[in-house]
Amino acid sequence: MRSPRFCIFCNQELDEKNRSVEHIIPRCMGGKLKSNLIICKKCNNNFGTEFDEALIERFALILHPVRLFNPHLKIKDVIVELRGVKYLLTANGISLKDPYQKKKGKGFLGMVFPNEKSLIKHLKKKKKKVPTIDIQKTIEATKREKYDIIEHFDFEIKNINNEVYRCCGKICYEFLFHNNNNYKPSSDLFNKFVLNKLEPSDFPICIWYGEFNPLTNREESIYHIIVIEGRKDEQILIAYLNVFNCLPTLMILDKEYTGPTFLHGYYQDLLSNTQSLFTPSFSIPLTRQEVVNLIGQFNPLDVVEDYVKNVFETLDNSRFYPIKRELALLIDNLPLRVSASDAGLLAKISNTMVSILDKYGLFLAIKNRLEEIKDSSDPITFLTNISIMIDFLLFSFKRARITIEIFEKLSQIIQ
Ligand SMILES: [Zn+2]
Repeated sequence: MRSPRFCIFCNQELDEKNRSVEHIIPRCMGGKLKSNLIICKKCNNNFGTEFDEALIERFALILHPVRLFNPHLKIKDVIVELRGVKYLLTANGISLKDPYQKKKGKGFLGMVFPNEKSLIKHLKKKKKKVPTIDIQKTIEATKREKYDIIEHFDFEIKNINNEVYRCCGKICYEFLFHNNNNYKPSSDLFNKFVLNKLEPSDFPICIWYGEFNPLTNREESIYHIIVIEGRKDEQILIAYLNVFNCLPTLMILDKEYTGPTFLHGYYQDLLSNTQSLFTPSFSIPLTRQEVVNLIGQFNPLDVVEDYVKNVFETLDNSRFYPIKRELALLIDNLPLRVSASDAGLLAKISNTMVSILDKYGLFLAIKNRLEEIKDSSDPITFLTNISIMIDFLLFSFKRARITIEIFEKLSQIIQ
C-alpha cells in the first residue's frame, strides 16, 4: 500500500473523495502539468477564485494569439476593453461583445453590431415601439465590415500584485512536492506566504531580471519555465519561475533546508504544446547570500520599467511567433521552386498569407498597401502582394527581434 498523502496547504489526508486534480501552473495561464496527489478540493477551489482574476487580467492578451495557433490551450473567452468598447477574445479570433454606438465628436454615426443575430434581436425590440420598421430590408441595407482593430489593444499593463506573487510561489511549492513527495519543510513560512498569512514586506520572493537560461537550444516560442534547486552545502531550497518569458521570479522555498543537493526543471512550450521535466544544465547563478539580499532588498517599484518592457516584448512575440510558425507550415507544403508565372500557386500563397495576417489581427494594418486583385490569372499582382506582405512582416519581425531566416527560404522558393 502507498503511504497516505496530505494536502500540502491544509494538511488534510487526501482520499478518493477530497483530492483534486490540480494544474500546477493554472489553467488560465495555459498550464498543462497536473497532479492529483498534492492538494485537496477545498484548497484548490479557494485558490482558483482568489488567483484567476489577477492572472487573467495580466496574461489574457498574451495567451490569446497563442491559442489561435495552438487550439489545445483551452482557456475561457476573455472580455477586453478598447476605447470604451468591449471585445471578446475567443478561440476563433476577436469579436465585439455588445452592440455599440459609433460616434464622431458629438455626432452619432450609427450602431455597430457584433453579428447578424445581435442586429435582428435589436430590430425586433425596436419594432415593438416602431411597428413600421422592415426588419428584412434593414438587414439587407446594413453594411458588413470587419472590426477595425489593427494594433494591440490599449492594454493597460497592470503591475504585479500580491495574488500574482503568491500564485508564483504556489506553482513552485507544488512543483517541489510533485517531484519530492517526501519533502518535509523546516518551517511553515512558505506555506503561510502562499496562504496570505505573511505581510508583503516578508514575502520570500522577488522579480529578478538576471541572466539565466536553464534551457539550452531554446526555440523561439512562449514558455513557462520552473527550476527548483536544493543545496545541501548552503542549506537552502530556492526556485526560479518565469511565466510567459516575461515574469521571472526568484524565491526561497526553505531557508533551513537539510536534504540532498538536487536540480529539477520543467518547461512548457505554449506554441508547440509540448512540456518536459528536465534536469537544467546550469544551476541558478547566485549564492545563498545573493538570493537572500535580492529578496530582502526587493522593491517592486524598481522593476516596473523592466517588467513593462518584457510584457510588451512578450505581447509582440505571442503574435509574431505563431505567424512565423504558420509561414513555416506554408513553406513546407510548397514545391522547392515556384515559378513567377504560376498564377495558381502564387494566388494560394498570397491568400494564405492574407488569412494568417487576418487571424492575428494584422490584415487591416496592411490592407491599403496591397494591390487590388482584378484578374485571378495575373501572377504579377499576386507576386507584388506577397512581397508587400513579406516586407511588412520583415519589419515587424525585426522590431520584435524575431529571427527572419523564414523569409530567405520563401524568397528562394519564389524565383
Ligand atoms: Zn487543503
